[in-house]
Amino acid sequence: MKKFPSFIQIYKKLIQTNSINSININDDSSNKIIIDILANWLYDLNFSVEIQSIPKTNNKFNLLATMGSGPGGLLISGHSDTVNVNTKLWNFDPFQLTIRDNKFYGLGAVDMKGFFACILDLLHDLNLKKNTHPLYILITADEETTMSGAKYFSQFTQIKPKIIFIGEPTSLKPIIGHKGHISKSISVQGKSGHSSDPNNGINSIDIMHLILNSLFQLRDKLKYMLNQKQFQIPYSTMNCGYIHGGKSANIICDFCTLHIDIRLLPNLSIPQFDDLMFNELKTIQNTWGQNIIIKNIHEPIPSYALSQSSDLLYIVEYLSQKKSEFVNYCTEASFMQYVAPTIILGPGSINQAHQPDEYLDMNFIKPTKNIFKKFIQYFCKK
Ligand SMILES: [Zn+2]
Repeated sequence: MKKFPSFIQIYKKLIQTNSINSININDDSSNKIIIDILANWLYDLNFSVEIQSIPKTNNKFNLLATMGSGPGGLLISGHSDTVNVNTKLWNFDPFQLTIRDNKFYGLGAVDMKGFFACILDLLHDLNLKKNTHPLYILITADEETTMSGAKYFSQFTQIKPKIIFIGEPTSLKPIIGHKGHISKSISVQGKSGHSSDPNNGINSIDIMHLILNSLFQLRDKLKYMLNQKQFQIPYSTMNCGYIHGGKSANIICDFCTLHIDIRLLPNLSIPQFDDLMFNELKTIQNTWGQNIIIKNIHEPIPSYALSQSSDLLYIVEYLSQKKSEFVNYCTEASFMQYVAPTIILGPGSINQAHQPDEYLDMNFIKPTKNIFKKFIQYFCKK
């Protein structure tokens, strides 16, 4: 019988396997190789494995590994991709696991290949034959850009686990809510002309000025309505992050574009926000509607929140011995919450994610295995 790899061997192999995900097609890579590696290990651990091709992607796949059948049980989820890397900023080779000063360095070390190494090592240690409820391992694609993997899975899966854990780096604290994310581009098409005659054109900067005034009013309203004190920034935010228009001081500006970023609280839905924005811009639209184009830059990502009255929250806080929190960053919980109640909990700190010399502190390994051992025992054996 072949020997199952050790924690370090698993971790090394995952770090060595490039799974960069980028909106820039030249930097993007298919995640098929890493999915196949993980599928083989899970198969060797007696899981039945299913690899799902995700439509309309650059050759990307999800992996669902299942042990047991029936309703309920536990789903452990994570993403196979990493962000892109600028090797010049690194002191280590991002594609080799380097162990230094009690830390594991490498691209994806904390976000989130270290988590998979912990889970596979744990699954190998445990006797899963006595489980009475199913255990699922889900590995998704494209989390760092479009979240197409989690989105596709949540739309089409038939399984109904009792609870989902996403092993993003939370320093092992249960995270039970985060904001949603919308990016919009607002463009104004005017008409060019000589600057000496303002009536000889339509100045798109003038119209954008009206739009900005209305958006700032909306931004102030967001600040005072529907606060949620669990968040460090307890209101929905709006940032004007990019604006461009015009060619020269002596030409009437014929085109101006603005990009805005909105972070919505869980108690404000995407359609509710769209209505608020529509109302705020209504007067301007009545006059200039023909000239204004509003588009989503990417598909909006819904906010996420676990019901705080949920029994599951009490159980998870008890088993992890940590109080739950809310965070500012976005995760696949936005989509997974539609499959089952979802909690984000994993090893390492989010501060080291997406950074040069990304690392996972070694002190997280044992506690991670311990906590997930308790989760598996609780949710798969009850
Ligand atoms: Zn991540």
